[in-house]
Parts: sequence; C-alpha cells; structure tokens
Amino acid sequence: QHSSGPLRNFDQSAKLRNVLYDIRGPVQDHASRLEADGHRILRLNIGNPAVFGFDAPDAIVRDMVTSLPTAQGYSDSKGIISARRAVVNHYQVREGFPSFDVEDVYLGNGVSELISFALQALLNPGDEILVPSPDYPLWTASTVLAGGTPVHYAASEEHDWNPDLADIASKITDRTKAIVVINPNNPTGAVYSPEVLTGIAELARQHGLLIFADEIYDRILYDEAKHTSIASLAPDVLCITFNGLSKTYRVAGYRSGWMVITGPRERATSYIEGLTLLSSMRLCANVPAQHAIQAALGGIQSIDALIAPGGRLTRQRDVTWEMLNTIPGVSCVKPKGALYAFPRLDPDVHEIHDDEKFVLDLLIHERILVVQGTAFNWSKPDHFRIVTLPESADLSTAIERIGNFLSSYRQ
Ligand code: PLP
Repeated sequence: QHSSGPLRNFDQSAKLRNVLYDIRGPVQDHASRLEADGHRILRLNIGNPAVFGFDAPDAIVRDMVTSLPTAQGYSDSKGIISARRAVVNHYQVREGFPSFDVEDVYLGNGVSELISFALQALLNPGDEILVPSPDYPLWTASTVLAGGTPVHYAASEEHDWNPDLADIASKITDRTKAIVVINPNNPTGAVYSPEVLTGIAELARQHGLLIFADEIYDRILYDEAKHTSIASLAPDVLCITFNGLSKTYRVAGYRSGWMVITGPRERATSYIEGLTLLSSMRLCANVPAQHAIQAALGGIQSIDALIAPGGRLTRQRDVTWEMLNTIPGVSCVKPKGALYAFPRLDPDVHEIHDDEKFVLDLLIHERILVVQGTAFNWSKPDHFRIVTLPESADLSTAIERIGNFLSSYRQ
C-alpha cells in the first residue's frame, strides 16, 4: 500500500524556454504520424545521406566493425590518440592552416556535442554570440541553452548568401564573445568568398573575438567552388574548427566528429580547461566510431566522385536549382556546396504569412516534407529549405508538385 502524496506536475526547465530546433519540430511529428498511418512521405527535410542510398566507404564501416572487440572500454576523454593524430595530419597538409597538436583536438559524438561544449564552457549570462541568419539552428539553440544571447547577422541573398560584413560590424558590442561561421553553409549552400572570410577574420582580430568555424561540409563543393578554412586566414585569432564524419563520409549515425583549437591558446587556458572538464564529464565519445576517423581521413576520398561534374550529388543539386527557378514567384541562389537549397518565395506572388503553416499544408496535401525558413532563424516567412539528397527523379517530381501546390495556395 502506498501512502498518498501530493499530485505533482512536471514542467520542462525554464532554461529550455526559447530553445528552438524546428528542423525536427511539430511538422516533422505530423509527418511521422502520417507515415504510421501508411502514407508515403517524400522527406526532403534532413541532411542524412545514408537513408538516400549514399553508402559510406567500406573501409570506414570495416574499421568500425573490426574495432568492436578491442573498443569495449572508455577512451581518453579527448579521444583515442590515433584518431586525433589523423586529424592533425589532415589539417597539416592544408595550405596555411595554423599548426596544432593532438592536445588541441577533441573528439565528440558528432559535431553537435562539441558545439554544445564550446558554448557551455564559454558563456555567462548576457554574453553575446554572433550567429548567421539563416543559420544551422543548433548554434542559436545551444547559445540560448548555455545562457548566452544569440545576435543574428545577415547573410546576403544578393551576394550568393555571403555574410554581410557591415551588418556584422554593426552588431559587435562589448558583450560579444565569438562569431559563428558556417561554411559551406547550411541551409543556403553558400561557399564564402576569401574576401568575406578575410573581413570576418579582421573583425575578430580588431574586437578580440573567438571564431567558431563549422566546416562539416568542407568537402562537399560543386563546380569550381574552393573552400577556405577561416583558421588559415587568422592564425593569430583563437579559432575552433569543427568537422566530422556525418556528411562527407555518410556515417551520420555513428556520431563522430572533432574540433581543433588554433591561435593564441595561451590566452584561453581557463576556457580550454572548461572544454576538457566537459569532455571528461561525459567520459568519452563512442569509441568504435572514433576508430572510423583514421580510416576516413586516410583513405580514398570517395566523396570526390559524387561531387564531380555529372556526379550524383552535382546532378541532384542541378535539378533542384533549375526546377525551383522555373516556378513562378520562386527564385533560388545556386548552391555552391553542402546538401541544401534555400529558395525564396516572392511575397508579391505568394502571400505566405506563416511559413510553418505553409510547410504543414504542403505536407498534408502533397505528402512532401520540407523545412520552413524561419526554423533557420530567418526572420521572414518567405523561404524554405530542401535537401538535395534524393534521386533526381524524386527531386524533380517533388519540385513539380511544390510548383503546382503553390499556384493555388493562399493563406
Ligand atoms: N553543423 C552543421 C552545419 C550541420 O548541418 C550539422 C548537421 O546537419 C551539424 C553541424 C551536426 O553534425 P553531427 O552529425 O556531426 O552532429
């Protein structure tokens, strides 16, 4: 017999207020319910290569499997040495990338976990982080969760979605701690010009800011696009560069990523101790997936065939971009990298006041799932994001249906 106590409700903590991650939000839940009822949904919403038939290189899977018997224990909190050494070698051959050693490398359960560490270890209430708009929303969400204030700077659609340097400069205050650079960009597919990156590095230098460089798409580049790591333009600035196996190596489910610290580390010993503390509190990253890093970085870069002219990813990017631009009132900047397009819905043609409702209506009527632009901290309801991972035929059918749907859609 239990004695009766007070009936109590459990609410989520106040610190989750204003933490938004709508790439997996209510519309996605609705899609899952439709699927459970037997409907087929064309999912153009998540950058998860494996589910679209992009298999990982054999060597990576083999190394993960082979390591299982010997990878039963915890590893060093920063990660196994062989993988961290592979990360050091990977950057050392890059032109101009500042030197660093294995102690400056942290392995994580995906870049996601490391983004959280980097912000949690840094921010006090009121500290500001400059984050692009649109952004990959984990950066904004993790800043809020860490008690900081995200301040959004504009990316300019007219300039191939490059960051607007004047806007960044105007938003720097004495509370600004860091600037986030997502290059190649999710959701826009932009690959930033060296001039803009140099400008950002200069602002960081002048104002004593830390740079967070999310470069998870650095090898997914189309046509002549060249990627420049901002750390290589700012060896004198504290810079944390993030990357991992989820996209280029197609093993998002393994949860394996790294971050490397470059620049004047002696100015950040306490912050770096904080990063090490957070790493040790979660003991270590998934150890078998750490073993996959050396195989990935050391092997043949199989992504190259996919992004070559005529390669599968290039063709899909082309189809997406071309077809979106044939829809009246829709325009799309050509993605130069990554796995997404971020088309604009002309507000004079399409009267969309609530873009979440638009993507929900599209889901209900056409069984196509995209993500509303406002989920990426874009302030106006006039964009959406589509992933370019499905086969060209699926993309083509989906975009045709989006066009038909838009032609009669009113809110
Ligand atoms: N950064 C960007 C820009 C992303 O698009 C993603 C995933 O979509 C991540 C980080 C998270 O990657 P991971 O799978 O390594 O956690």
